[in-house]
Amino acid sequence: MVYWKDYFTPKSIEESVKILTRYKGTARMIGGGTDLLLEIQQGHRPKVDALVDPTHITGLDGISEEDGYLVVGAGVTHTVIVNDPRMEQHATCLVESCGVIGGPQVRNVATLAGNIAHALPAGDGTIGALAMGAELQVASSEGVEWVNMETTFAGPGESTIDPTRMMIARIRFKPTGDNEGSSFRRVMRPQGVALPMIAMAARLSLDGEKIAASRIAIGPAGKVPFLAVRAMEFLKGRDACDNVFRKAADMALSEVNLRSSRHRATMEYREEMIRIQLPITLKKAFDRALGGKAVPEGVGA
Ligand SMILES: Cc1cc2nc3c(=O)[nH]c(=O)nc-3n(C[C@H](O)[C@H](O)[C@H](O)COP(=O)(O)OP(=O)(O)OC[C@H]3O[C@@H](n4cnc5c(N)ncnc54)[C@H](O)[C@@H]3O)c2cc1C
Repeated sequence: MVYWKDYFTPKSIEESVKILTRYKGTARMIGGGTDLLLEIQQGHRPKVDALVDPTHITGLDGISEEDGYLVVGAGVTHTVIVNDPRMEQHATCLVESCGVIGGPQVRNVATLAGNIAHALPAGDGTIGALAMGAELQVASSEGVEWVNMETTFAGPGESTIDPTRMMIARIRFKPTGDNEGSSFRRVMRPQGVALPMIAMAARLSLDGEKIAASRIAIGPAGKVPFLAVRAMEFLKGRDACDNVFRKAADMALSEVNLRSSRHRATMEYREEMIRIQLPITLKKAFDRALGGKAVPEGVGA
């Protein structure tokens, strides 16, 4: 069975976009292929004439610091993110979220860009990046622009970034600095391949012992990766303490849209996990903001 005819490894963003344009919708971006190839094989995505692989583009194959941002290229795998000391310290929730994806074989080839482009409501790297406040550099025949990541989710598994016409070239976010910390937790059923039930990530900025700003992402908690804006608004200016963290979880519960999934968890269980785990996630982000040194937890070997 032939699933594609041509496989391109362009050397620049421009070349990638030119190939996509030339194929008029019959070529598609690919990262590690850990989602895409299975989907094509199983008939969930149409076959393509060509695949365009940006992982060989110099400048998109690593993590850099530019204009006060940490910038992750489209070719960067979860393993590279997990092993980067800057990410450990300044994007801890992203390291923790990328660190639970699949097993080492998957993490060694799968990219954060692919995770975000897939736009699943519970994509782990996506939840971590959403809490970090990530922006995406999107390239197409119309040019290159930075877009707020949360505006790109159009539905379960649907992104406004059409991978037959557009590519995510880079992902960037402000690293956590002094008085800032982040944390990610995932509740899962460990049976061979882990079946995630619910995941959440939080980023906190402190002003003394008060919360100056926060970002809270939860998945799956709706049709798209979910930002708990009511809870974030509630936390602003409040004391960072257990009682406030518990109330923030209640606020988040008032805005999520949970579903029961036969193989994963009931709606009620997910609700209970948010009630219990979100205050713990917030407290961990707070401790990291206060303590300075962040040591990621739960990262797979
Ligand atoms: C055994 C196994 C376990 C897994 N476990 C998890 C898990 O625990 N958590 C989790 O979140 N995911 C999991 N996944 C799913 C998958 O590994 C991740 O979503 C991964 O990050 C996808 O990245 P990729 O580079 O392989 O994407 P690909 O499969 O290459 O692409 C995914 C989608 O993104 C598009 N795309 C890729 N790169 C770009 C780009 N630069 N610009 C525009 N569009 C692009 C593709 O066209 C496709 O639609 C698992 C997969 C397997 C096989």
